[in-house]
Amino acid sequence: MQFQDLDLLRNIQQALTEEGYENPTPIQEQAIPIIMEGTDLVGCAQTGTGKTAAFAIPILNLLHRIVGSSKKVKHIRTLIVTPTRELAIQIGESFNTYGKYTNIRTLVIFGGVNQTPQVDQLKKGVDVLIATPGRLLDLHKQGFIDLHHMHHLVLDEADQMLDMGFINDVKKIIKLTPDNRQTLLFSATMPLAIRELADTFLTQPKYVSV
Ligand code: AMP
Repeated sequence: MQFQDLDLLRNIQQALTEEGYENPTPIQEQAIPIIMEGTDLVGCAQTGTGKTAAFAIPILNLLHRIVGSSKKVKHIRTLIVTPTRELAIQIGESFNTYGKYTNIRTLVIFGGVNQTPQVDQLKKGVDVLIATPGRLLDLHKQGFIDLHHMHHLVLDEADQMLDMGFINDVKKIIKLTPDNRQTLLFSATMPLAIRELADTFLTQPKYVSV
């Protein structure tokens, strides 16, 4: 299979071609069509399998239709929750690379640093927010994050968030998001607590495993 077979928008396809991406990896081949049709997804995949692009590419494709080329006020449409600052930054870079020919704005927030620059960027408006759980809840509590317009929620490296003690924060975050969202959960392993999380908060998800 080639990326051309996935019916991506031309401006996203162009960015992938420039990156030298020709063929989707197995997780991408399975997950991209499911995400593009709006279905919830549980993806069992390790880092290194191309799982970031497996959700970033279809989300950018869906978002471009919503955000288009207009300059109107931006709302958070996609929220990605990930356990560490390093992963958050990597995901942000992926969105910027694959979305470089869109006007989708991405912001990465994490704890341990001054919140003011993050708050300033939030005030300007972002389409995709990538966050670690603690800082997200903190800025939400302070009223800087409005999740009412959110379409897609991604829980990335869910098992690692569990191991790091973030599971209750993750549940709190999910409850702040609209019920009609599309939810994608990625995890390298599927311990009981993660399967229960998926059963509770995802709607008739499809499962893919690589
Ligand atoms: P990840 O599993 O998301 O950490 O991605 C692992 C690495 O594979 C990243 O450096 C990506 O840039 C690269 N990558 C992801 N998908 C593809 C693809 N379809 N073709 C070539 N490289 C890719």
